[in-house]
Amino acid sequence: MRKSLVAGNWKLNGSLESVKQLTSGIVEQSAEMNCEVALCPVAVHLDRVSQLTSGSDVAIGAQNCAAYLSGAYTGEVSPVMLKELGCQYVILGHSERRSLFSETDQDIAQKVMLVLEQGLIPILCVGETLDEREQGIYEQVVEKQLLAALESVSQLQQVVIAYEPVWAIGTGLTATPEQAQSMHAFIRNVLAKLSASAAEKVRILYGGSVKPENAEELFAQADIDGGLIGGASLNVEDFVAICKAAG
Ligand code: PEP
Repeated sequence: MRKSLVAGNWKLNGSLESVKQLTSGIVEQSAEMNCEVALCPVAVHLDRVSQLTSGSDVAIGAQNCAAYLSGAYTGEVSPVMLKELGCQYVILGHSERRSLFSETDQDIAQKVMLVLEQGLIPILCVGETLDEREQGIYEQVVEKQLLAALESVSQLQQVVIAYEPVWAIGTGLTATPEQAQSMHAFIRNVLAKLSASAAEKVRILYGGSVKPENAEELFAQADIDGGLIGGASLNVEDFVAICKAAG
C-alpha cells in the first residue's frame, strides 16, 4: 500500500514573514491529514521552515540541488547541506529547471544519484509539452526522461515521480483524471521494466493546476499517489484542502 504524498512547491515566492504564516497554518492542521506532506520553500528559507515544522509530521524539501557535493561551484547548494538542514525530499528536473535553466537529462541523472546517496528522496519531475502532446509523442518523451534519470539507480523504490504535463503547470489547464491515470499507469509500466517489485512501491504524484476543486477526483485514480502543488500551495486553506483530499 503506497502512502500518498502531497508536496508544495513554493517556487521563488515568500518572505521570512509570509513563509512563517504559511508554514504555521499548515502545521496547525497537519494532524487532520492522512497523507505525507512536504513543504518546499526556496533554499534560503529552508532553515526557518525546518524550525517551524520540527516536532510535526510535516517534512521539508528543496526545489533543486547541485550536481556536486562540494567544491568550486559558486551559487550552488549541495545535497549534503540540504540533508544537514533536515530536508527529506529534493525536487529534481522540474520543467522550469529544464526549460529556463537548460538542465539536461544527464544533469538530472547525476543529481538523482547524489541525492539518493545522501539518503534523501528525489521527486523526479517528468512531463511533455503541449506540442509534444499534440504530436502524439508524449509517451516517448516521458519514457526517455524516466530512463535517462533512473536507468542506473539501484534504489528505485525510494524515488518519487511527479508527472507534470508542462501545458498544465500554472496555466489553469488540468489533465483530466483519465488522461492523468493513463500516463501514471504508463509510467509505472516503464518503471516495471527496471524493477517490477519497485514499480509497485514508487509513488507517482500528479502536478499541474491541482486545486481543491479537482484534487479529489485526480487522487481517486488507481495510480495517482498524491500531488506536487505549485500555485495552490501558497494558500493555507487551499493546500490543506488538497492534502485532505489525498488521504
Ligand atoms: C508545479 O510547478 O510543480 C506546479 C504543479 O504548479 P501549478 O500547481 O501552479 O500548476
